[in-house]
Amino acid sequence: MKIGVLALQGAVKEHLKMIENAGAEAIVIKTSDQCDEIDGIIIPGGESTTIGRLMKLYGFIEKLNEFSKQRKPIFGTCAGMILLAKEVVGKSENHLGLMDMKVARNAFGRQRESFEANLPIKGLESPLRAVFIRAPLIEEVGSGVEVLSEYNGKIVAARQGHLLAASFHPELTDDFRLHSYFINMVKQFSLVK
Ligand code: GLN
Repeated sequence: MKIGVLALQGAVKEHLKMIENAGAEAIVIKTSDQCDEIDGIIIPGGESTTIGRLMKLYGFIEKLNEFSKQRKPIFGTCAGMILLAKEVVGKSENHLGLMDMKVARNAFGRQRESFEANLPIKGLESPLRAVFIRAPLIEEVGSGVEVLSEYNGKIVAARQGHLLAASFHPELTDDFRLHSYFINMVKQFSLVK
């Protein structure tokens, strides 16, 4: 299994380490052509406007749309989740627009810019320590989207078939269970083909 991490901006190194700890091969993705060599990709946290702009500039919008059509899994974390969403509150345009959900940026307010929580997540046996950094939240999901986790009644993780999204940074602790979950998704979808 080869898992790419989109390396245009943001938290790349930590994801690479988590993927390797979870037993898969991690590849740094800098050009869109490299997407042909991988089975799944993580779009990391960072700044969604910046990553979105660079994705457009380097041809990742078309490439990842094609990637998704082939049912290759994509995991968006924090800014990556914003990039996956069909709708971003207050914006007339989306980025990839692949996942049927409406997200709000910086949704936890100034006084809670950054915090941690033990989050129960569907599919994981016990709560995951989740680090939220100027995190977005999911305001609405379409009927094909399964909610995997809520924090104070707000949706913070969801899955739509081969697409996975989390508001928080799952790469900033030693616990790689959500990465293992994603790698299992990649395995499942590569068997279907
Ligand atoms: N607030 C950032 C944005 O809107 C996301 C923050 C993050 O990825 N840690 O892009």
